[in-house]
Amino acid sequence: MASEHFDVLVAGAGISGICAGYHLQTSCPGRTYAILEARGDIGGTWDLFRYPGIRSDSDMYTLANPKAIADGWSILEYLRDTAREYGIDRKIRFGHRVKRASWSSAEARWTVEVERGEGEEVVRFTCNFLFMCSGYYNYAEGYVPQFPGTERFAGRIVHPQKWTEDIDYVGKRVVVVGSGATAVTLLPEIAKKAAHVTMLQRSPTYIISMPAEDKIANWLRRHLPARVAYGITRWKNVLLGLWFYRFCRRNPKRARGMIATWLRKELGPDYDIGTHFNPRYNPWEQRLCLVPDSDLFKTMRQGRASVVTDQIETFTEKGLKLRSGAELETDLVVTATGLNLLLLGGLEATVDGVRVDFAKTFNYKGMMFSDVPNLALAVGYTNASWTLKAELICRYVCRLLKHMEKTGTRQCTPRLRDPTVTQAPFIDLTSGYVQRAIHMFPKQGSKVPWKLYQNYARDLVMLQRGNVEDGVMEFSNPAIPVAGHEETADLAAERRRLHV
Ligand SMILES: Cc1cc2nc3c(=O)[nH]c(=O)nc-3n(C[C@H](O)[C@H](O)[C@H](O)COP(=O)(O)OP(=O)(O)OC[C@H]3O[C@@H](n4cnc5c(N)ncnc54)[C@H](O)[C@@H]3O)c2cc1C
Repeated sequence: MASEHFDVLVAGAGISGICAGYHLQTSCPGRTYAILEARGDIGGTWDLFRYPGIRSDSDMYTLANPKAIADGWSILEYLRDTAREYGIDRKIRFGHRVKRASWSSAEARWTVEVERGEGEEVVRFTCNFLFMCSGYYNYAEGYVPQFPGTERFAGRIVHPQKWTEDIDYVGKRVVVVGSGATAVTLLPEIAKKAAHVTMLQRSPTYIISMPAEDKIANWLRRHLPARVAYGITRWKNVLLGLWFYRFCRRNPKRARGMIATWLRKELGPDYDIGTHFNPRYNPWEQRLCLVPDSDLFKTMRQGRASVVTDQIETFTEKGLKLRSGAELETDLVVTATGLNLLLLGGLEATVDGVRVDFAKTFNYKGMMFSDVPNLALAVGYTNASWTLKAELICRYVCRLLKHMEKTGTRQCTPRLRDPTVTQAPFIDLTSGYVQRAIHMFPKQGSKVPWKLYQNYARDLVMLQRGNVEDGVMEFSNPAIPVAGHEETADLAAERRRLHV
C-alpha cells in the first residue's frame, strides 16, 4: 500500500495540536507536517464537551478575552480563528484516527496506521517524528460507576461528555452526581432554569472562588503594550499558582483552615461545612476546583441548589435511594463522575518489531519515553493551565528537530542509564480517575530529566534554555539500508538533505 510521507505527523487538532502546527511551521519551516484528527472538527476538549456552562477552570485570559475564566465557546472560537489565521487548518486531515505506529531504526521513520472515515478504512503514512497531541482521556466514553437499578429509573441519565441539545432540564428536578470540576461548572448554569439541583457527592472536594475577570490583567492591558501586559500577567498567575500549590502541599493544616474560613464567608455560619466541604484528603492532593465569582455558592444561598453527601444504593422508578435511607426524587441525573484516562490516544507502538509497553517506560522531560525514538506527547500541567506546558513541549520538539538537522542525525532516543534513578507514579494525585488508570502510564524517575516537577519556571529553564544534548538523549544515525533493501525515493531525498 502506497503511503504518504511527512517529516512530522501530529495526532490531534485540539489546543496542543494547533500549537504544534504553529511552532512547526514557524520554527521549522523546511519540514513538512500534517495533523491527523480523529474527529470531524478542531478543538478537542472544547468541541467535545457541550454541557451548559462549559468553561475553563484555570486562567485563560491569554485568549484575548477579558474573562480569566473563559467560556468553552470562546476557547473554541479562539482555536478556530488561530488555525485559520496561520493556515494550520489546511494541514488537518479530519476523520483520521492514529491507531498503530511501528518504528524502523534502519529507516529512521515511523510507519503509521490510521483509520479513516466512518468505514474505518486503514491508510498508512510514514514520518520521521510522531507528535501525539491526543489529550489525556478517552473520547469514546466517560467514567460511570455501575449503579444498580438504572433500568428502573423513569427519568433520563446522562454523562456530561455525551450532553446533547435536546436534554431538557427546564423546570425539572436535577441530581448532579459528583463534585469535581464538571459538576461545579454545570450546576449554577442548570440551576438558572431547573426547579432545583442537588449535587450528590460520595465525599467532598475543595472548592474555592476566584474573580471571573482578572482586574490587574485588564488594567495592564489598557495601559501597556499587549506583549508586555501579557508577559506580566502570565508570570503573575504562574507564580501565584505555584506559590499556592506549594503552600498547600507544605502546610496542609493551614491551607485547610484558610479554605474553611473562605467557605464560612461564602455559606454563612450555620452551613454544615464539616460534612459537605471538608474533604478526606489535603488541599492539592487532588485538583482544587475553582468557581468564578462564587457562582456555585450564590446559587446555593438562593436555595436553587443544595449538596447531599451520601452514596447511591440504587436507582428507583422516581430517583435515587441513598445509603442513609434518604430518597431523592428526580427527573434527570447527570453523572459528572469523571473521565477515563487514555495514554497517547490509545496508540499501539512497536520499535524494530518489539511492542512498546509504555507502562514500563520512564517519562523523559514530561514529553518522551525511554528507549522510544522520535515520539513525543504533549501533556499539560495538573496544577496550572495545560497550555503552559503544552507550548513548552511544542517548542522543545522543534528544538530537537533543528538539532537533528544541524548535526545530520535522524534519531533521538532518551536512554535511562543511571541505575540510581528510582521510580514514582507519573501523576502525583490521589483522585479516582488518576488511580484507576495510573498503572497504564509511564513512570517518572527520581531525578531530572525523568522527574516531573509540575513547575512552569523550572520547565521553562530546562526546555527553553537547557541543552538538548543533555547526556541522556541519544542522537544517532542508524545505518541506511543497503544490501537487499530498496531505498525509497523519500529516504534518498532525506538522506541527500542531511548529507548522510
Ligand atoms: C471539561 C474539561 C475542562 C477543562 N478545563 C481546563 C482548564 O480550565 N484549564 C486547563 O488548562 N485545562 C483544562 N482541561 C484540560 C484540557 O483537556 C486542556 O485544556 C486542553 O484542551 C487539552 O488540549 P489537547 O489538545 O492537549 O487535548 P484535547 O483537547 O483532548 O484534544 C485532543 C485531540 O486529539 C484527538 N485524538 C485523540 N486521539 C487521537 C488519535 N489516536 N488519532 C487522531 N486524533 C486523536 C481528539 O479527537 C482531540 O481532538 C479541561 C478538560 C476538560 C475535559
